Amino acid sequence: MPVLGIETSCDETACAVYDATRGLLAHRLHSQVDLHARYGGVVPELASRDHVARIAPLVRETLAASGIGFGDLDGIAYTAGPGLIGALMVGAAVAAGIASAHGLPLIPVHHMEGHLLAPMLETPAPQFPFTALLVSGGHTMLIAVEGLGRYELLGESLDDAVGEAFDKTAKLLGLPYPGGPHLARLAERGQPDVFRFPRPMTDRPGLDFSFSGLKTAVLVALPRAEGEQARADLARGFEEAVTDTLVIKCGRALVQTGHRTLIVAGGVGANLRLRAKLRALAADKGFTAFFPRAEFCTDNAAMIACAGSARLIEGRKPDGPLFTTPRWPLADLRAPGVAA
Ligand code: ATP
Ligand code: MG
Ligand code: FE
Repeated sequence: MPVLGIETSCDETACAVYDATRGLLAHRLHSQVDLHARYGGVVPELASRDHVARIAPLVRETLAASGIGFGDLDGIAYTAGPGLIGALMVGAAVAAGIASAHGLPLIPVHHMEGHLLAPMLETPAPQFPFTALLVSGGHTMLIAVEGLGRYELLGESLDDAVGEAFDKTAKLLGLPYPGGPHLARLAERGQPDVFRFPRPMTDRPGLDFSFSGLKTAVLVALPRAEGEQARADLARGFEEAVTDTLVIKCGRALVQTGHRTLIVAGGVGANLRLRAKLRALAADKGFTAFFPRAEFCTDNAAMIACAGSARLIEGRKPDGPLFTTPRWPLADLRAPGVAA
């Protein structure tokens, strides 16, 4: 059952074909990073326009690479939200056009459900139930996942998302946008204990996060970070504080849920120090940690095609009318067959 997936929620134009039995057949991605870099952030209008210019050739290229034609598809999945509304509309309109032309079901996918199911693209794939750490540019969430659409929010960030904290701290250090991966590279050359930052909200029970204070702590420490080595030390100190905080909360969440599997998804899941620390915790506590490959941590269409395929197989009724939504709490999703 091959499903075509389209992702245009932010600044990546992406397309993929996923088949439940054969796996991922093809995926293509065009990043708009260069387009937005000089503005230090994503400019929504430019994002929409670039999606319009890129999407049709990208769909054709992806389908050609997958070795199948439109007539062989069983469904068209697209990111319906959350995201930039103008950007979402481009992918939704293209998906609706293809679905209508070929008489295929249209499958709206929640972008964060896509991130959440990205580890399913790997072999071996994790089995339900599991606890998920979702760490991206806009979200920081711990979720108990009992099955498809059965998501209980255990904790989230009360202010900045962790990817946002990485990007803002990187900006303070004068690194290019988006700063997360640049900061991680700088941190590799730094020493862990020269700058010691707080591990926010770990001194009290609970699974919520707060990262805005950490960013302020970096700002205060910045005058002491003169020279290349000191900047690397500061980056390392920040990364240590963030990853320690995430690891402490993951450990707590697993105790609370009783799950033996942790999955990590979202762009910050590409962070190597976070992965190493979670693998060490897993070995220590006897659970299994699953990560998508780095390119499927950040935005991509493979995860959208994969989530769309899961929804199609589980018998989610096609929603019919085209819809997109900039805000869409993940907890509002339902398991297949469960009425509103
Ligand atoms: P959302 O999915 O919440 O709508 P998004 O789509 O912008 O947000 P993603 O594409 O999942 O987010 O992730 C992008 C974020 O991941 C950015 O903040 C980026 O800096 C961060 N990131 C990517 N790689 C790394 C890394 N190696 N270390 C730390 N952060 C990283
Ligand atoms: Mg992006
Ligand atoms: Fe994302």
